[in-house]
Amino acid sequence: MNRRSFLQWANLAGLVAGLPSARAFAVTPHEAEVGQSADASTAKKAASPETLLLKDYRPQSIYKIPITEVAKAKFPVIDMHSHPYAKTAAEIDEWVRNMDEVGIEKTMILTMSTGTAFDDIQRKYSKHPERFEMWCGFDLAGFDMPGFGPAAVKELERCKQAGARGVGEIHDKGKGLVSGKAKAPGMHPDDPRMNAVWDKCGELGMPISLHVADPIWMYQKMDRHNDGLMNAYEWRLDNQPNIVGLSGMVDILERTVARHPNTTFIACHFANLDYDLARLGEVLERNPNLYADISARYAETAPIPRFASAFYEKHANRLVYGTDMGFDKSMYRVTFRILESLDEHFYEIDQFSYHWSLNGFGLSDAILKQVYHDNAAKLLAARA
Ligand SMILES: [Zn+2]
Repeated sequence: MNRRSFLQWANLAGLVAGLPSARAFAVTPHEAEVGQSADASTAKKAASPETLLLKDYRPQSIYKIPITEVAKAKFPVIDMHSHPYAKTAAEIDEWVRNMDEVGIEKTMILTMSTGTAFDDIQRKYSKHPERFEMWCGFDLAGFDMPGFGPAAVKELERCKQAGARGVGEIHDKGKGLVSGKAKAPGMHPDDPRMNAVWDKCGELGMPISLHVADPIWMYQKMDRHNDGLMNAYEWRLDNQPNIVGLSGMVDILERTVARHPNTTFIACHFANLDYDLARLGEVLERNPNLYADISARYAETAPIPRFASAFYEKHANRLVYGTDMGFDKSMYRVTFRILESLDEHFYEIDQFSYHWSLNGFGLSDAILKQVYHDNAAKLLAARA
């Protein structure tokens, strides 16, 4: 499944994906109607830079330079950020075969769900207990009623009994907490109402995968200066009134993490500080109970390979591998190529939807081992 078909699937499935979809690129009904003459007309349009549209732009690298095929990760991998993409037993078996082929030892399934929805997913994946872990969501019902907390804690304990090993993915893109279909508008992670819930996660030995904010381009004006325009427009936040901005959400994340030192948090997608890794480094340094996953931010970091690899080197003990993009073998391989190779100027527009080219980080074996596996293994083993 490439990014586009995955996102179409994710939209249909009502899943919240970590990253922007490529719907902005989809063929419009008008284009479809044009039918056979479409190719000719596209070619004619494309002949002029005056009429070529950014959404149609598919540059191809001309450089005669090495292309590294990474069929299998160099070391065994723990994927800390995935979702229940596979729906049937056959699809789950296919996923396991893909994991074997590309070198994924274990995958965290962030179900975002509670109650019978969680139990159903848990049951479906129970044939492969060594390969998948189920993480549950929060029951946010009654968040705006007095006495919120005990019921959420009770359901958390029940999910743990039913097999949940962690919590996630919990979102807050500035409007309040979201756990799958459960929403708590206006209640952010640092809200005192959440204190008992976060503490209970620590007590139960359940790490939390917490997604705050979204990439910076989504907050910026949708104009000719927006560097990530094609994705940004699809997932825009610039038109959302009264939301907490990116920087404010990072402050909220840090306040929450600092207030609950016995609870382990994993900030999804570099805490959306992929554009300001130095700030993420400071937040990590101040908070030993915080990790960051690198899922669904490969295309956002691959344009700055030297700065990004220096960041990996400095914070190698706090970064964990994740995908968040379906379970195609080709998807995994793109992530390995970016982390392992020193390839330059390659395009994966269908996977990531950005128009720019990517570069590999060429991470050392020691760093790859930590990020692919050892940090996650340590974090998971520390649970009660
Ligand atoms: Zn996700």
